[in-house]
Amino acid sequence: MIRDIVMFGDPVLRAVGAKVGEVTEEVRTLAKDMLDTMRHADGVGLAAQQVGVALQMAVVDVADSEDRPSAMWVNGQPVNLADYMPMVLLNPVVEPGKEKEVDTEGCLSFPKMNADILRPAKIRCQAQTLDGKGVDFEATGLLARAVQHELDHLNGVLFIDRMSSAAKAALAGKLKRLQRAAR
Ligand SMILES: [Zn+2]
Repeated sequence: MIRDIVMFGDPVLRAVGAKVGEVTEEVRTLAKDMLDTMRHADGVGLAAQQVGVALQMAVVDVADSEDRPSAMWVNGQPVNLADYMPMVLLNPVVEPGKEKEVDTEGCLSFPKMNADILRPAKIRCQAQTLDGKGVDFEATGLLARAVQHELDHLNGVLFIDRMSSAAKAALAGKLKRLQRAAR
């Protein structure tokens, strides 16, 4: 089921997600709905907060983003990205690498807004999964960026918090309009 995406201005986007405990039917349904909603909106990631639920759960799918490549390693070995997409990450923990890079980013809760964001280029992510097995992987490129963007959401952090003040100022009018519409 496609759910409504929460727009900037709604306080749930600033809520820190509660840890996902047992994988109940409700958790599975939420994950499926988040995947449906992300695909319908042509996104590469979505956090539970963006459908109004403050939980440590995010979905990511970068398999169709050939123009913005990603690489992924499991147990230190390169893997075929498509075999691991889409990902449903529960209670993810991210260890950022030292090297950083700038790339453009958007967010489904901020329609028609993009900005360059500086983030670590490589990450290691450990998360629980719906099947109980868990994942432990390293990523670069768009996957690394998407996972970090979603992890921020789970902690109530938004990409406007990571923009340069000039980039944020350039979007000020659009941001004000969104916030007004949310009231
Ligand atoms: Zn976002």
